[in-house]
Amino acid sequence: MKKANIAPESRRKSEHFEQLAEIAEVIIEDDLDQITEKPGKPGQYHISHKNNEVEELIRDELVYLLEGNMDVAMTLFGSDLWHSFESHMKAENHDIESGGLKGAAASHPIQLVALLKQIVETKTFKGNCPICQDWR
Ligand SMILES: [Zn+2]
Repeated sequence: MKKANIAPESRRKSEHFEQLAEIAEVIIEDDLDQITEKPGKPGQYHISHKNNEVEELIRDELVYLLEGNMDVAMTLFGSDLWHSFESHMKAENHDIESGGLKGAAASHPIQLVALLKQIVETKTFKGNCPICQDWR
């Protein structure tokens, strides 16, 4: 790792994104990142838990779990960081832009999980938020 060579501004941004990615991680806790849709059965999913148990669930249950994890994340990280996270997420797609994260969870839960999973891996975000909007 050649971290020392990174310019201070971009390091500040990557630290900011790393912190926001932790919020994404909390939203897909409880192995929600291991969810897959059953082939040919839209709205029916299974989660392969790390203890090898397979949990079956339907769309409403997935929405409920996502909303619950979002409430946990809001409590853990506080409303300012949550607002920053949501600002960046709104730049990701139209569902989030129009309905917020909970709206996107209700309308397209499995797509939201896929997006959050990608963000946890890449730790990069589009757009900006009240914290980073004036950074170069
Ligand atoms: Zn930001």
